[in-house]
Amino acid sequence: MHFYVMTLFPDMVLSGLRTSILARGMDKELIHVEAYNIRDYADNKHNKVDDYTYGGGAGMLMQAQPIYSCYQAILKVIKEREPDANPRVVYVTPQGSVFSQGMARDFAKDDNIIFLCGHYEGIDERVLEEIVTDYVSIGDYVLTGGELPAMVMIDAVARLVPGVLNNEESAETESFDDGLLEYPQYSRPEVWMEKRVPPVLLSGNHQNVDVWRFQKSLERTKERRPELYDKYVEEHPEQFTPKAIKKRNRILDKIED
Ligand code: SAM
Repeated sequence: MHFYVMTLFPDMVLSGLRTSILARGMDKELIHVEAYNIRDYADNKHNKVDDYTYGGGAGMLMQAQPIYSCYQAILKVIKEREPDANPRVVYVTPQGSVFSQGMARDFAKDDNIIFLCGHYEGIDERVLEEIVTDYVSIGDYVLTGGELPAMVMIDAVARLVPGVLNNEESAETESFDDGLLEYPQYSRPEVWMEKRVPPVLLSGNHQNVDVWRFQKSLERTKERRPELYDKYVEEHPEQFTPKAIKKRNRILDKIED
């Protein structure tokens, strides 16, 4: 999968992503990250990419021309490799839909994604209208630039590309996969600071472990993210019938906590 990032700070993006699991994914050529410096595409002799905002107001705005030229250069590279490609162009912006695991899954189906990182007060609306397919935010707060949001999204998408995670790092049973937060987890030693690992996890009884983990996921989600819990209950009525609850409780009663 190919990620292209249009940015004023390519080193920040590349050095931030070239570590640990993603670096291994790049070395195995499962993912490719290329950062394009928008400044290189400015058609003025000082490589200026920003200017004052029409109508007044504080701050500078990124101009349309360098971004459009940068986009065209990236599109040319993609089309040389895949003539029929029609890549998604994601403008990372606090004004977008809030990024989620579902969106990451959706993005991971693409072969090419172009990210556009804003800076200063943002970007001239006309180039956004011309090239952007998705407006995506990482949360309801304002950062100084789009590099960290783009890196967050690339990380979340890249780890879903087959082969990037190995078996021990499997993405199958994680928070949000089934709409619930993940259950608590433990590693060695069995006792730490007088806290014992829950005995069910040492029992070797897989059915009991599954029921215990599911129950803990429900409790944790209800406590920390009540809106996600309500959604899960609504979407999975089969888990909350008197029969299903009784069946779970029978097992939970037998498990020593
Ligand atoms: N004036 C803009 C507004 O009010 O929407 C904010 C501009 S912000 C200071 C500069 C750039 O940072 C944005 O163009 C965007 O690319 C990025 N950015 C800031 N906060 C973000 C967020 N929560 N999610 C995604 N990108 C963000």
